[in-house]
Amino acid sequence: MRRPIIAGNWKMHKTTREATALVTEINGLTGSVTDVEIVVCPPFTALPAVQQAVTGTNIHLGAQNMHWEEKGAFTGEIAPGMLKDLACTYVIIGHSERRQYFAETDANINKKVKTALKAELIPIVCVGETLAEREAGTTEKVIATQVQGGLAGIPAAQAARLVIAYEPVWAIGTGRTASADDANAVCAFIRKIITGMFGSQAAAAIRIQYGGSVKPDNIAELMAKPDIDGALVGGASLEAASFSKLVRWT
Ligand code: PEP
Repeated sequence: MRRPIIAGNWKMHKTTREATALVTEINGLTGSVTDVEIVVCPPFTALPAVQQAVTGTNIHLGAQNMHWEEKGAFTGEIAPGMLKDLACTYVIIGHSERRQYFAETDANINKKVKTALKAELIPIVCVGETLAEREAGTTEKVIATQVQGGLAGIPAAQAARLVIAYEPVWAIGTGRTASADDANAVCAFIRKIITGMFGSQAAAAIRIQYGGSVKPDNIAELMAKPDIDGALVGGASLEAASFSKLVRWT
């Protein structure tokens, strides 16, 4: 039985004070929820304050990115050990905005996934096709390349701990959501690739989220699908009222 996981990606939003207020409000609205894993991913600058605010709650902390090296001369970067030091449990890796604006490649993403696992962080690995790729009928090819490239060389026992977020690029921040059937079909395809790479036990354990304009009015239909184990949420995670409705979708 896979535990549902709802994660909020706050992107480049919220000062320390705003982030603390938001997570405190989210906790007030979701404090009694125990059957869903709740994750918030604030910007780096707000991680220490949010870490303090979530101590003793059901809310887990995640970061939005990290470098693939453990330390070194990489000005402006953040190492996995620094995230672990702040009690982060999760780290988003390979978000489409990082692929698009910061030239992240499957090879870089693969290095990050390996270093994150070594640091005992759980990567939320993002994959997804662009609109042009979907319209050209190459969705499965793109997803297969991203999953196989991003997860190459990881031991099966570790692969089972990963979270994969299927986020069609055309659905992120656009108000357009993939239909629940289409989203589930791609998530099932990802699980098939995982079976081929790591075996059926890992495929049965790995959690696959859908992301892309998830809102309180479409979450229930998405979560009802057998291969969708949660959601990675941008816009609707920035307000406690909407995020808590996503966490309590049933
Ligand atoms: C995201 O950034 O991962 C995302 C899914 O954003 P939104 O929910 O705003 O589409």
